[in-house]
Amino acid sequence: MSVQQQLERAERLCNQRGVRFTPTRRHVFTLIAGHKGAVSAYELLDQLKELEPHAKPPTVYRALDFLLAQGFVHKVESLNAFLFCEHFAEHHPMQLLICTQCGNVIELHDEAINHAFEHQAELHGFAITSQSIEAHGQCRHCAGENTTS
Ligand SMILES: [Zn+2]
Ligand SMILES: [Zn+2]
Repeated sequence: MSVQQQLERAERLCNQRGVRFTPTRRHVFTLIAGHKGAVSAYELLDQLKELEPHAKPPTVYRALDFLLAQGFVHKVESLNAFLFCEHFAEHHPMQLLICTQCGNVIELHDEAINHAFEHQAELHGFAITSQSIEAHGQCRHCAGENTTS
């Protein structure tokens, strides 16, 4: 699906939810959607300034808060960065595999992993308020490059 199609899909969802998809929110959405892997708020700010010269850090953070709340992007906690979610229409469990070499991030949606995690927390009488399951390593592509060189 192209960035344009993703944007249209997000617009329809915002209309249904009765929330405002302002020009700045659209810009940040488009920047993240066009980015491969995770992107930091400061990288986004640099790119946003090309579209909105007066953009400041709070401009980006407010837009990111909105996009996170709508489920359009995920926060990658271990990188303090943001990742576009292609499956933003549904709420889903999430685990991330992060390649430290090329920065590619693979998003997994394994219900069983989250259930097991939540079950273990319950056994400890622990109430989870937020969680992230993230692994760092090497993707298939980067591993392949290493063996041939
Ligand atoms: Zn997702
Ligand atoms: Zn890689």
